[in-house]
Amino acid sequence: MLFPIEKQNLSKCKFSSAFGERVHPITKKKDMHRGIDIAVPQGTPLVAIEDGEITINKVNNGGPTVGFGYYLVIKYKNGLHSVYAHLRELSKQKIGSKVTKGQIVAYSGNTGSSTGPHLHFEIHEGGLLFKSQVKNKDTAVDPLKYYPQLKGMLGKYLTNINFDKGADNMPDNQIVEFKEKWQENLFYDTIENLKKKGALLNTEEWLNKYKNKKLTVSELGLLALVMADRD
Ligand SMILES: [Zn+2]
Repeated sequence: MLFPIEKQNLSKCKFSSAFGERVHPITKKKDMHRGIDIAVPQGTPLVAIEDGEITINKVNNGGPTVGFGYYLVIKYKNGLHSVYAHLRELSKQKIGSKVTKGQIVAYSGNTGSSTGPHLHFEIHEGGLLFKSQVKNKDTAVDPLKYYPQLKGMLGKYLTNINFDKGADNMPDNQIVEFKEKWQENLFYDTIENLKKKGALLNTEEWLNKYKNKKLTVSELGLLALVMADRD
């Protein structure tokens, strides 16, 4: 199965938010993020991941897909659905038209509730339910289930860890150690920004964690999710 972003554009991408429950480190408020976010420049081509058919192509007007902006849904021959949200504009694809694996179906953008250009990408198994429609079993699954090798994108900021070997080697409890100055600066900027927003009350605790070499990869990931604050 292909990734929605073509290989030659992957170097411009940053994995900005993972699938799953996002827990705010202070409020402890939980929110289910039903896809993955990939920060990518405006107008990056997005492709069909398999052979399939366009089932939804619209701009949301409230309702269960509120926040998506322009979005597209493809139903694949293998039974999966995929959702592409925050698109630059309405896709040229008509509802019901057939698409082939690797075909460009839309362009990434920044529409809907989005704080920066990114693709919100969902994969659904056994049907297609939007957040407010879920009663018992959700249809949304972690897209990385289908792209385990891409978990390594998370590692771009952490040069002391070898993510090239794949997801199995991603040590969540490994201590973060920035090898380059800009990475460290990014960390401090993040802390400052969150503090300004009032989103981080225990700033000192976070700084001390890093200074005392106790900040783990999973904690840094949590911080990145809060920073991204995206749907
Ligand atoms: Zn998202």
